[in-house]
Amino acid sequence: MQHLTILGSTGSIGASTLDVVARHPARYRVLALAAQRRDDILFEQCARFLPRYAVLLDGDAADRLAQKVAAADLDVRVLSGADALEHVASLPEVDAVMAAIVGAAGLRPTLAAARAGKKILLANKETLVMAGRIFMEAARQHGATLLPIDSEHNAVFQALPRNYAGDLAASGVRRILLTASGGSFRNAPWSALREVTPEQACAHPNWVMGQKISVDSSTMMNKGLEVIEAHWLFNAPADAIEVVVHPQSVIHSLVQYVDGSVLAQLGNPDMRTPIAHALAYPERIEAGVEPLDLIKVATLNFEAPDFARFPCLALAYRALRAGGTAPTTLNAANEIAVAAFLDRKIPFLAIPQVIEQVLDALAVTPVDTLEDVLNADAVARAAACDRIRCASPSFTPLSPRQL
Ligand code: NAD
Ligand code: MG
Repeated sequence: MQHLTILGSTGSIGASTLDVVARHPARYRVLALAAQRRDDILFEQCARFLPRYAVLLDGDAADRLAQKVAAADLDVRVLSGADALEHVASLPEVDAVMAAIVGAAGLRPTLAAARAGKKILLANKETLVMAGRIFMEAARQHGATLLPIDSEHNAVFQALPRNYAGDLAASGVRRILLTASGGSFRNAPWSALREVTPEQACAHPNWVMGQKISVDSSTMMNKGLEVIEAHWLFNAPADAIEVVVHPQSVIHSLVQYVDGSVLAQLGNPDMRTPIAHALAYPERIEAGVEPLDLIKVATLNFEAPDFARFPCLALAYRALRAGGTAPTTLNAANEIAVAAFLDRKIPFLAIPQVIEQVLDALAVTPVDTLEDVLNADAVARAAACDRIRCASPSFTPLSPRQL
């Protein structure tokens, strides 16, 4: 029996995780559920999974949840605040932590799980983008196990040798090929890109996801963040990570070996596959996913990414190559720009402009400690807010729309 903490349980990955877990009651027990402020969803999850702890970041929402839990006579301890997130990520009785909070907010609890030596099912890619060095060192030092949930990285993990130890050359790997759907606007005319609304940006052709990652997919920043994520997870230099546009999202990524072999992982686009893979690794369990029907798929297409249409992808490569605080800056500026776009304060095409201006404005400095990361994050957020306020004086960056 594995005991789980699910960070971000009310979100898209959280719900898919609980769906897989519910199929295997003899294998998994949920010990803690955590989210930001959706007490209605968290209460339903508490009633169904009876965790020992339920955490909401927001104090008022946690009070409402506690009242409902008491009225229903559930044996669930309700906690609130950022420290409580770290607490449930590092409980001694927890075996595995699903890290599925969105954005930089996931860093501290995910890092707490690494420092507690947990098995971490890592969906929160922003943790690796903003603090890759610190997080990987903490995981190594404390014996944490990292299993990628992002479908591309999960695919690469499956296509690499079983005991891959972070040396591409020693494993005969030439390159990692990350596939990208190309998002909703792959073929949209430029005139249409100027008018893109949050609703259009959030309607992904192949995947149903949270708002932030949906917008990131439509700008291709998601793929940029994933290039940086792959760098840290697989110790791969930028030149060994290539992006291939593959609109069907059936091949989730590939590994090219020096002998000419290319190994890929395929499947229907359903996050329950990588979640089930990571939960059960190295075994395999039923995930509730429709089996892939290759005859129905019929055609698999591939294209080079269009860096002019999607400057965010080039900005991410630039930040990865610059190193130090540059990826932290990229991530922070992107979070602010996406929140402003979702709040209809800036147009779609301004997202890469804000990020580029912030990258241009801030010097790259080395990252040795968590404080270095948090400082760079705060400075970049302020710089992005400054730029957005110029364009739109009413913007309040501290109120991004969340679930
Ligand atoms: P989502 O918006 O659907 O859910 C986010 C979750 O995080 C919610 O439970 C929310 O309450 C919680 N949260 C947000 N801010 C918080 C805070 N400050 N403190 C505590 N909890 C907070 O997002 P999602 O689509 O499930 O994505 C989650 C993470 O997984 C992201 O990092 C995303 O990049 C990654 N990911 C998602 C998918 C996908 O298919 N959805 C695929 C690959 C990777
Ligand atoms: Mg992905």
